Amino acid sequence: MSNRETKTDVILIGAGIMSATLGTLLKELVPDMNIKVFEKLDKSGDESSNEWNNAGTGHAALCELNYTVEKPDGSIDISKAIKINEQFQLSMQFWSYLVKRGLIQNPQDFIMPLPHMSMVQGEDNVTFLKNRFKALSNNPLFQGMEFSDDPEKLMEWIPLIMKNRPSNEAIAATKIETGTDVNFGALTRMLFEHLESKNVEINYKHSVDNIQRTSDGSWELKVRNVDSGNVERHQARFVFIGGGGGSLHLLQKTGIPEGKHIGGFPVSGLFMVCNNPEVVAQHRAKVYGKAKVGAPPMSVPHLDTRYIDNKRSLLFGPFAGFSPKFLKSGSVFDLFTSIKPDNIFTMLAAGAKQMSLTKYLIQQVMLSKEQRMEELREFIPDAKSEDWDLVVAGQRVQVIKDTEAGGKGTLQFGTEVITAADGSIAALLGASPGASTAVHVMLEVLEKCFPERMTEWEPKLKEMIPSFGISLVDNPELLHEVHTFTAEALGLSEKERAYS
Ligand SMILES: Cc1cc2nc3c(=O)[nH]c(=O)nc-3n(C[C@H](O)[C@H](O)[C@H](O)COP(=O)(O)OP(=O)(O)OC[C@H]3O[C@@H](n4cnc5c(N)ncnc54)[C@H](O)[C@@H]3O)c2cc1C
Repeated sequence: MSNRETKTDVILIGAGIMSATLGTLLKELVPDMNIKVFEKLDKSGDESSNEWNNAGTGHAALCELNYTVEKPDGSIDISKAIKINEQFQLSMQFWSYLVKRGLIQNPQDFIMPLPHMSMVQGEDNVTFLKNRFKALSNNPLFQGMEFSDDPEKLMEWIPLIMKNRPSNEAIAATKIETGTDVNFGALTRMLFEHLESKNVEINYKHSVDNIQRTSDGSWELKVRNVDSGNVERHQARFVFIGGGGGSLHLLQKTGIPEGKHIGGFPVSGLFMVCNNPEVVAQHRAKVYGKAKVGAPPMSVPHLDTRYIDNKRSLLFGPFAGFSPKFLKSGSVFDLFTSIKPDNIFTMLAAGAKQMSLTKYLIQQVMLSKEQRMEELREFIPDAKSEDWDLVVAGQRVQVIKDTEAGGKGTLQFGTEVITAADGSIAALLGASPGASTAVHVMLEVLEKCFPERMTEWEPKLKEMIPSFGISLVDNPELLHEVHTFTAEALGLSEKERAYS
């Protein structure tokens, strides 16, 4: 037992993209702020933020059909798409600021330009896509989007998908060149390297086992050194629980009333990755399809070019799965130990409500490789089994809570920032749209936890993120400036970089 005890301004739990983003924002706002990070793994960005554990889509609602809902009258509600696009622009501006200031280098190592496409089959879906295109292409945020249901044009856009496809099938797609593939793992590692250079103490292989309030209103963390088993005590005036899937357990330990009546349901992800370079070379886009009936929104199938480790690859998925673990490196008891007296009825109500999701997950878990290949063949008609391998992605813990609209035990598909009333602790739960909107979510943490400092911080926030507090859709001139600046800073306007 070690008796190391420290006091600090801020503790960040977990070394994923969320803590990396919050730490970097705080260090820019208050350079002499004392920050410590505790991460139970031996490196940063190794859970959901790792490049192989997520799909790397820079979610800007350019291709994800679940962000535009068809209303009963057939018109398309694009309000969610606008919100997500604006949130992604905040990330793009902050990353550009960091690159321009030399705080992180080589943007091509974490972001690549890549067309984002939506593709649908069947008459009804083609009509839906056409209406969606009409609604979006009139909006300045989605300028440059193209629609086509002409097989020749589609062959030009997506040859791998169109080759050997029955010619009588109704099929259509939209395409926009300003999409991105983001290597969130690489970005997370860059940000932690930068934080280390700014004297942030990063403690790997340190697991936070307990969190308790002290008599002066600070928080005391019981931290275990994973190698030696030594236990340390660290106090901070502000704690961010950025433990990804591990956040719910830590939030429950704080005992704050805001963390009660909340449960979590883990959904795992699997991708198929192409091992044949000839096939990989025939596709360059992220192509999102429509979710199957009963499938949760994060299971929308997509065929993605990815840029990982300076290499171009091709991924298809995700297939959903079930594991009771809340982190890929977690314990099989995670789901069970997250059930507490205050959330048991919420969890039971969710269980009763989500029979279709349960059925869907069971079906997904039971799929054989050949059945998964059949789903892939809806995208690539002549896909060969020997060209594709299965990779296990990260765990997403969906939030379950009681809501006015959905009643007791409603499954949430977004992210939730839970904060104590006095703003001394915040936890991030949920995983969608995810890493793409890390900057927006961490700005929300700042607003909720440091309200008294926001006026003082505003000029610096605007320097880092010019559209902070401003709607881009209502300010087309600023939008144009932001697009031009971020494309230049992140090198997105160049032709595809010289990767294989
Ligand atoms: C299959 C899949 C596909 C996805 N696709 C996309 C996508 O295309 N685009 C997108 O933007 N987002 C996507 N996401 C979501 C995105 O990956 C997550 O939102 C994001 O990575 C979460 O970051 P985080 O920092 O909160 O968590 P993580 O990256 O999981 O980091 C949490 C860290 O906390 C550590 N930790 C946990 N508990 C403790 C403890 N007690 N003590 C110390 N350390 C602890 C963990 O070891 C981990 O390193 C996807 C996710 C999945 C699973």
